[in-house]
Amino acid sequence: MSIELAARIKELPPYLFADIDKKKVELRKLGKDLIDLGIGDPDLPTPKHIVAAMQHAAAEPRYHRYPSYEGMQAFREAAVKWYGERFGVRGLDANTECCALIGSKEGIAHFPVAFVNPGDLVLVPDPGYPVYATWTRFMGGEVHYMPLRRQNGFLPDLSAIPADVARRAKLMWINYPNNPTAALATRDFYKEVVEFATRNDIIVASDVAYSEIFFDGEAPISFLETPGAREVGIEFQSLSKTYNMTGWRIGFAVVHEKLVQGLGKVKTNTDSGAFEAVQAAAVSALTASQQCVADMRDIYRERREVLCSGLEAAGFEVLRPKATFYVLVVCPRGYSSVQFTSKLLDAGVVSTPATGFGPSGEGYIRLTLCADKSRMKDAAERIKSVKL
Ligand code: PLP
Repeated sequence: MSIELAARIKELPPYLFADIDKKKVELRKLGKDLIDLGIGDPDLPTPKHIVAAMQHAAAEPRYHRYPSYEGMQAFREAAVKWYGERFGVRGLDANTECCALIGSKEGIAHFPVAFVNPGDLVLVPDPGYPVYATWTRFMGGEVHYMPLRRQNGFLPDLSAIPADVARRAKLMWINYPNNPTAALATRDFYKEVVEFATRNDIIVASDVAYSEIFFDGEAPISFLETPGAREVGIEFQSLSKTYNMTGWRIGFAVVHEKLVQGLGKVKTNTDSGAFEAVQAAAVSALTASQQCVADMRDIYRERREVLCSGLEAAGFEVLRPKATFYVLVVCPRGYSSVQFTSKLLDAGVVSTPATGFGPSGEGYIRLTLCADKSRMKDAAERIKSVKL
């Protein structure tokens, strides 16, 4: 029997990191200690009160049945209340303008299923979270990359989008605080996005998975705070990074009723919602004191100082992040992102070439702050020892 992959899977771009992954496995086999700053997955545990809420909820038979696809009422109410308190985005209707997600990735992947037809054009940040482009292509849509350049604060230059592209575009993804560049959006940028989207009849999907990881007192804003945003957009929020809950798979989407309901239609035909005990624990996360989040920020801030200062002292050009747990490092002259990643691996540090997020990532590697302070210090020492 010949087993043939579907064209959409065969057409996925080649896996850029295959060689690096192979090398990682070989080095580990040789017993080499690797400091893994490659993956954006918090090493810190989920706060105790959230775990306790889950333990309690897991024993409740009423949570053992199929959940509702749109999420428990209590969860959706907690989510919209949190939005009001955190961003001042008030008056969201928990019944029609909010939908629970099995992690924000699930919603981001399913959103184009509801709104992208074959041949539709989707504006995608480059570099950016790969799911935006992959699911556009899965749906037969066409990706138009919006390069994020350092000189523009890693914000896309909307005026550089050709008029015919803007006219044809159906959907635009934006993600601030940004993975992988750690950039923040400004209010002016969001105003420009609303204006551009309204003028060209484009849906705006804003991904704010990192909104709660910020330093230096500058809390990231939500796209939905912008006048007019509610008429054009939807925002994807996640509990993964805010409460160290990546393994729990819980997030939500809010706002434009038609967009939320469209996504809901895909979900009713795909999954059966998030485990209600997880949703009950998420209610505890969103409604209890947010001190645990402030404590987490302090830990990342300290790590950022150790890593960035260490690398700067070693002569590297580092983009010290104001938000997210990602640190971009400029590749030394003569090295591509993949080559520099490979060099760091030889020194025992796992990083990610920013080209894994799109061609405009060339010239940078991404490190994460997801290991403890002493490992940050060791990583900086190891990188310092690299012979270039
Ligand atoms: N959005 C961005 C930019 C991410 O980097 C990630 C995960 O790394 C996600 C969304 C998905 O997060 P989750 O599915 O855990 O909510």
